[in-house]
Amino acid sequence: MSDSPAKAYLGVPVRRPRVAFFELSSCEGCQLQILNNEASLLDFLSLVEVVRFREGMSGGSDEYEIAFVEGSVTRDDEVGRLQKIRETAKVLVAFGSCACFGGVNQLKNRFCLDWVKKEVYGDHPVETAEVRPLDAIVQVDLRIYGCPVKKEEVEKIVTHIAIGSDITYPRYPVCMECKANGNVCLYDLGEPCLGPVTRAGCDSWCPNNRAGCWGCRGPSDDMNILQLVDIMKRHGFSEETILDRLECFGGFSGHLEGLKK
Ligand code: SF4
Ligand code: SF4
Ligand code: SF4
Repeated sequence: MSDSPAKAYLGVPVRRPRVAFFELSSCEGCQLQILNNEASLLDFLSLVEVVRFREGMSGGSDEYEIAFVEGSVTRDDEVGRLQKIRETAKVLVAFGSCACFGGVNQLKNRFCLDWVKKEVYGDHPVETAEVRPLDAIVQVDLRIYGCPVKKEEVEKIVTHIAIGSDITYPRYPVCMECKANGNVCLYDLGEPCLGPVTRAGCDSWCPNNRAGCWGCRGPSDDMNILQLVDIMKRHGFSEETILDRLECFGGFSGHLEGLKK
């Protein structure tokens, strides 16, 4: 492994770890977030040595310390790939909601797999299985939530990794950020929102744009899902609407016991 040039961030020596990006079943939108950030891309690249990143470079090395893995597992060959990445990486990061919870891909698990295959692919033979998040296959060291991930948060987390400091996630719900941003509550406008139970960190991205939260970052600490259901029902939303929203990204899948008929 080559020695990386010495760098410093706010006076703290930065080790500049070797990082690689991988994608399993995904739309690759999370990786795109990294490239989208032109204003701070060079700063980001000064913190890490990117050795594999299909969206941004050709070739690549299999000598890396940190693996960012985007996407969920939906095929057998992905299981083997993921296990190999795990063997190589010192730190494996589940990158985005697909990797953390199954993401939108896991919606398929609500239906009979044969029916899904027929509806989507017709008679074209396609290998696809039940969707699983990364931690169903390998140990995950770190999670970066969001669909897509928020680039500012990724940069913050990578900075923490590079300087060896602890990473903390917001424990509170999106509503806190939404209120701080001075938004009118969407419930007052007759629209549903999962902000009361969803982990903050996106700066209330959707409500800022007058769209209700769909819970892409998963549950906040100590959230009260029954209270949310009560709020939604009092605002006239059906059980089907409530479940549709809570099941969208897979983050709440362990909290729906008793809500499904
Ligand atoms: S989390 Fe969302 S943006 Fe990221 S890969 Fe999955 S579907 Fe795409
Ligand atoms: S719009 Fe959503 S996030 Fe904002 S305060 Fe209302 S419920 Fe909370
Ligand atoms: S508001 Fe909700 S759905 Fe939108 S980005 Fe934030 S956590 Fe995800």
